[in-house]
Parts: sequence; C-alpha cells; structure tokens
Amino acid sequence: MEKELKEKLFNKKENGWKTVDTRQKEEIFKISENYMKFLNQSKTEREFVKEARKLADSNGFKDIMEFSELKPGDKIYFVNREKSMYLAIIGEEPIENGMHIIGSHIDSPRLDLKPNPLYEDTELAYFKTHYYGGIKKYQWTTIPLSIHGVIVKTNGEKIEINIGENETDPIFTITDLLPHLADEQMNKKLKNGIDGEDLNLLIGSIPYNAEDVTEKVKLNILNILNQKYGITEVDLTSSELELVPAFKARSLGFDEGMVAAYGQDDKVCAYTSLAAMMELEKVKNTAVCILSDKEEIGSMGNTGMESHMFDFFISEILNKLNINKPNLLDKVFCFSKMLSSDVDAGFDPIYASVSDKINAGFLGKGISLNKYTGARGKSGASDANAEYVAWIRKILEKNEIKYQIAELGKVDIGGGGTIAYILANKGVDVIDCGVPVLSMHAPYEVTSKFDIYSAFKTYKAFWQE
Ligand code: MN
Ligand code: MN
Repeated sequence: MEKELKEKLFNKKENGWKTVDTRQKEEIFKISENYMKFLNQSKTEREFVKEARKLADSNGFKDIMEFSELKPGDKIYFVNREKSMYLAIIGEEPIENGMHIIGSHIDSPRLDLKPNPLYEDTELAYFKTHYYGGIKKYQWTTIPLSIHGVIVKTNGEKIEINIGENETDPIFTITDLLPHLADEQMNKKLKNGIDGEDLNLLIGSIPYNAEDVTEKVKLNILNILNQKYGITEVDLTSSELELVPAFKARSLGFDEGMVAAYGQDDKVCAYTSLAAMMELEKVKNTAVCILSDKEEIGSMGNTGMESHMFDFFISEILNKLNINKPNLLDKVFCFSKMLSSDVDAGFDPIYASVSDKINAGFLGKGISLNKYTGARGKSGASDANAEYVAWIRKILEKNEIKYQIAELGKVDIGGGGTIAYILANKGVDVIDCGVPVLSMHAPYEVTSKFDIYSAFKTYKAFWQE
C-alpha cells in the first residue's frame, strides 16, 4: 500500500538501462555506432558541415538558394561560410504559428595555430598555438594531435588539411617536463602548470641538407609543405588550422554502454538532432535545425549564433513562401519554440562535491533538461517559463522518453551558458537540454549510449509534435 503510494507520488529518476529490452538495446547501440562513425569524420566545424551537407543531400534536402518558391514538405538548408548550417522542413501549418527549432553547436575546445605559427629552436621545429574555448591546458600535452583545416592562397585556391587521422599519417604532440626536473612546476597551481604560450606543437627535427643557411629544420618543413601543398610561409597567415586529439571515438567499458570521444560537446546533440531531422517527412510546424559555430568563445562573429545570418535564413524562407511583410519575422520568432540542445555536466562520483546530487544530471538517466543556466544567482541565465517546461514534459511523457531536469553544479560553484539566450532575445520559448557528459571540454569526453538515444528520441518527438 505504502509502496504504491510512493510509486505514485515520487519522481522516480530511475536508470534508463533498466527499462530497455533487447530490441531497444540494439537500436541504442546502432545509433551510437552511426554517431561514432560520424564523429570520426567530423572533428571540426568545417568537417561537420561537410558531412552534414552530404547526409542532407542524400535525404532529399536542397540548398535554399536553388528554390524560387517554397511549399509545405520542402526540405532545405543554408551553409554559412562552411562553418555553420541551418536546415529546415517547411510545415503544413502557416509559419506564423511558429517554428520548432533545435539548436546546437559544432565547434569544440581545441588549439588553433597562431597567424605566424612556424619557428625553429635548437634544431626542433614547432607551430605556435592559441587555445580555443575553455580548456585545462595540462590535458593537451603528451597526447597525439592531428591538424585539420584550410589554407587559402591569394588566388582563391583552398587547400584542405587533415593529417594525423589515418594510421599511416604522422601525428604531432606538445611535450611536457619529465617529473625528475619538474619540482618547481609541480608546486604551481594546477591551472598555472602549463602556460598558454608553451602550448607549442612539435612538428619536425630533420635539417635541410645545405651548408650556408640557418634554420635548416624550419627550411626542411617549409620545403615539405611547399612540395605537398604548393604553399610558402606567408600562406599560413591566411589559414584556419586546428589541432584536435588524434583519438578515434570508441565504445567505453566492458558493457560498452558509453562513448568516449573528442568533441562530444556539442556534437552529440548536433548529430542526434541532425539524424532525427533526416527521419522526418511531413511536419505540422516548420522544423528548423541549427548547427552553430563559435559557441565555445561566446557565439560572436558571422558564423556564431549572435550573427544575423539565422534571421537572414528565416527571412529567405518567408520571402520564398511569398508571405513576407514588415515585422513578420518578429512575429514568427515570438510564436516559436526551441530546444537549445547542448550538453550537461554529468554527475561524476569522483568529483561529487561540486554537484547537488538532487539536482544533477546523471549518466544513463536520459536527456537532461536545464531550466536555466548561468552562474552565481542565475546571472546570465535564460530561464525557461514553467508553462513551457510543462509543454516539453507533456511531449516527453507522451512519447515515454526518459528525461531528467538538472542544473549545472552547486550554487556559487560555477556555471555556464549556451546559445539559449540569443533565441530567447528574439522572443522564442527556449529550454536547454542535452546529453550529460563526463570530463567535459577534455580531449576525451564520455557519454552514455542510453542518453544519446534519449536525445535522439526527444528531438524527433519535438519536431513531430
Ligand atoms: Mn556546449
Ligand atoms: Mn562547451
């Protein structure tokens, strides 16, 4: 009797794996398998956009610029400078009734090359770097790194670089001090153990075979780059080259229930929302998928969410539906709903002291909704309205999707932000939700396959509502 009462009244928050049968487990593992394959091809925002475009093309999506008119059921996308992308399926309902938007980001913390990266010191050649996003610098030394990106020449020729991913490629690394001589370093604060200026990538050691020149190792590297790519040193000034871990995404644990990979923040939400959109045909409300860039450094710039590029995309839809009129864009946003799909800090029992166990997101308990983000008195938060949270809960419960509602860390311990506030500023109803992650922002991040599945189901249900 009491047991039934408790069953009825308590918010259960049970482990999702307990609710899964053999067929569902196969489905869960299949989605994660596809996710890991996609991740291995898409370690940077440019690579993600390239793969996303391929996937969209093969599922009947077309560049919005190819359309002069749009009608319900049309599947479109817009690629912004190869680094961010918006996709949409035009709904059966008038777009004035609002869109259903899911927005994630496809940039991840990493090391970027400086504009003048190459130098030689004591017959070793290096690339200088400037880190991108919030990293713990010591985590980026003594691991295999690969170089991804583009070099653009003044004649417009664009050279795509991807070195260190194939087994036959060389890799690169940043060295650290041997413990025998590290007494002074080891007595520093952890955050000062490695200086940002010391994150220099080791790239070569063989001198060019010549007598009367200096910097022979640097010369040899430039000669190799010139023969391979036709570039000279100055061409590196118009490049975007990113260093990312050369690890592959792998299943983690004896039970293979987790995924370990670089860049899961936020490619786990980006991939699952993209994959969910590929499975849609007709939708009631226009479905929009945002894959944004620059979230990790504040969403600034013309590929970041703060840019008006997204407004341009929606205006272009209104134009091509032949319904545009003054202020219609504002109206569409005011009636729209959004999931800001970004990862949550997963509860880590080893570091339990930073989390409030009653309000933390746990691995394996399903997609984690953050009603608000922010830090220290909810400062900077986009706080979802109770009415909207209830509306989302209704969809999740109706579709029997496991979810949890959490916040990032204990009060006054820290916090974080996402792109949620940017869409909220336009008048959209927004809530943050995503997959809980362990070791967030580290070179190798951990997620649960159950939560990846739960995110996929959530995104699909939200668009199908
Ligand atoms: Mn994120
Ligand atoms: Mn992040």
